[in-house]
Amino acid sequence: MKQSADRVQMLPRYLFAEIDKKVREAQEKGVDVIKLGIGDPDSPTPGYIVKRMQEEVASPRNHCYPPDEGLKEFKEAVAGYYKWRHGVELDPHKEVLPLIGSKEGIAHISFCFTNPGDVNLVPDPGYPVYGIGTMLAGGAAWRMPLLKENGFRPDFSSVPAETAHRAKLMFLNYPNNPTGAAAGRDFFEEAVDFAREYGIIICHDAAYSELAFDDYRPLSFLEADGAVHTGIEFGSLSKTFNMTGWRIGYAVGSSEVVETLYRLKTNLDSGLFKAVQYAGVEALTNPLMESFVGDLRRMYQRRRDVVVGALREMGWPIEPPRATFYVWAPVPEGFTSGQFVTHLLEKTGVVVTPGRGFGEYGEGYFRIALTVDESRLAEAMERIKGAVQYY
Ligand SMILES: *Cc1c(COP(=O)(O)O)cnc(C)c1O
Repeated sequence: MKQSADRVQMLPRYLFAEIDKKVREAQEKGVDVIKLGIGDPDSPTPGYIVKRMQEEVASPRNHCYPPDEGLKEFKEAVAGYYKWRHGVELDPHKEVLPLIGSKEGIAHISFCFTNPGDVNLVPDPGYPVYGIGTMLAGGAAWRMPLLKENGFRPDFSSVPAETAHRAKLMFLNYPNNPTGAAAGRDFFEEAVDFAREYGIIICHDAAYSELAFDDYRPLSFLEADGAVHTGIEFGSLSKTFNMTGWRIGYAVGSSEVVETLYRLKTNLDSGLFKAVQYAGVEALTNPLMESFVGDLRRMYQRRRDVVVGALREMGWPIEPPRATFYVWAPVPEGFTSGQFVTHLLEKTGVVVTPGRGFGEYGEGYFRIALTVDESRLAEAMERIKGAVQYY
C-alpha cells in the first residue's frame, strides 16, 4: 500500500499510548486503577436536555440536513446567553456559528487563515489541537510559554516583533487547561492591544467558562474593549452541561472571521443534527441552567478541595485553582513528568497526565482531572499519601 501523506506522518503518535499500556498491564494484574488522566465529565447530561433531545429525535422535521449556517434558534440562544451572562450583544446571524464541538472549529480555523510559512502563536502548555491544526494547515506554531511566575499567562512582550508580524492567529484559553489559571479584563485588553498592533486574529477557547469556584465568574474574551473586532471565542456545551459526546459548540465574535469559518465548513461538513441543536437551545435557555451549573460547580469545588488539601498535607506548594476541573501540580524533584506518572501508577494504581504531554513548558508538572467522584478521589489521595512525598 502507498504511504500515508506527510501531514499525517508528522502527527504525533497517540501521546498516552505508553501510559495506556501500563494501565492495561496493571489492570490485568488485578490492580484497581483510579483514572485521573482524561478530563471527561463523569456525571450525566441534565434530564431536561435529554428529554428535549428525545422529543426532537422523534420529530420528522429534524431528520433532514440542517441549515448550513446553523439553526436560527440555536444561534439566537447563544446570542441570548452572551447577553445575559456577559452583557455582550451579538448578531445571531453574522456573529454566531454552530460547531460540531469546539474542537472542530479550533482545528479548522487554521485552514481559514494560515498559509504554509505563516506562524500561529500557541500557548505552551496547552490543548494540543491549537498546534496540530496549525501544522496541518502548513503553518508553524510559535510557542508562548505559560510560566508560573506570570500566572500561567503569556508575556506578549517576549514575542519577537518579527514573529508577531508573521503571526496570523493567536490561541488563548482561559480558564486554562491544563493549568487551571484564570484571566481577567486587563489581560484580555492587553491581548487585544497586542493583536491589533500586528493584525493578529485572537482565537479564545472558553471551554471552561462556566466551571469556576467560590465567587469567581470568568469573563468572556468578548467583554474586552475591541475584542469583537479582533477575533473570536470558541464556546462548548461539553463541559458546562456534561455533553462531551453530543458534539456541540460554537464560534462567536468578529463577523469576518465567523464568515470565513462558515465558508470553509460548508465545503467540508453538513452541520449538526438538528435535534442536537434544539437540545443546545434547551441547555442555554432553560431557567434550570443556573441551578444545574451551580450544583456542578459545587461538586467540582468539593473535589478540588479534597485534592488540593491532600497535596498540601504532603508538602505540595500549590494554590487551589479558581476554575476548570483540573489541578496542575509540580512533580517532586528528581523526576521528569513522565517518570513521576509511571512511578505513581506503579506505586498507587493512580493515573494522572504528565505535563510534557501539553508541550515542553508542561515538563515538571502533572495534571489531575477531577472527573471521578469524591470518595474515589479521596481514596486516590490516601494511596498517594502512603507512597510519595513532595520533598
Ligand atoms: C474539552 C476541551 C475542548 C473541547 O470541547 P468540545 O466542544 O467537546 O470539542 C476545547 N478546549 C479545551 C481546552 C478543552 O479542554
